[in-house]
Amino acid sequence: MIGILGGTFDPIHFGHLRTALEVAEHFGIPDMRLIPGKVPPHRPQPVATPEQRLTMLQAAIASEPCLQADDRELRRDGYSYSFDTLTSIRAEVGGKRPLLFTLGFDAFQHFQSWHRWQEILQLAHLVVVHRPGYSLPPEGWHTPFLGTNPDDLHTTPAGNIYSLAVTALDISATDLRTRLKAGKNPRYLLPDTVLGYIQTHQLYCET
Ligand code: ATP
Repeated sequence: MIGILGGTFDPIHFGHLRTALEVAEHFGIPDMRLIPGKVPPHRPQPVATPEQRLTMLQAAIASEPCLQADDRELRRDGYSYSFDTLTSIRAEVGGKRPLLFTLGFDAFQHFQSWHRWQEILQLAHLVVVHRPGYSLPPEGWHTPFLGTNPDDLHTTPAGNIYSLAVTALDISATDLRTRLKAGKNPRYLLPDTVLGYIQTHQLYCET
């Protein structure tokens, strides 16, 4: 099984990192990939460059073997559609291996506007993680897809949706950028290595 957490990671913070680790542990995923988007289709464009965001991500996960940085979206031109990313991973691993695409409920709320969203469910399972202020309602378009037994994930490659409560960390990259711009210290909300990189390169001091 391969786990995937896509994001802008502008910058990566402990909310992303705990989510990736807890999803990996909960579902027994040895290979959890964090995939930064180059040109996110559904939101304002990132402040840091793709290379800077990848470097911060690599620094953040350097000592955690089950987390990997995957730069395939940065090597692709145009919008970073999850459909294209999952199609390319599928092409590499074949049709049988379960893929587990992780997203926060804030992102999931707009899932039906995503490029080829129905086909995403044919390529991967979804894990929707709770974020402070957001959790998956019991009823909705997703109800027929809701999986209850995580063991099923190991036997089917795609098509189920799981809801998972991870440690609630009310941290967002937007808040970190605001703090940095205001000259505030965001230490303990993100890894020190990432903060060191931000300070060395004077990122996010102005927008
Ligand atoms: P921004 O504030 O710039 O929108 P963000 O902090 O929401 O950024 P993203 O890179 O947009 O981070 O998020 C990538 C993925 O990680 C999304 O699926 C998002 O829901 C999830 N995520 C982000 N922060 C948290 C958090 N604190 N707890 C759980 N999931 C999170």
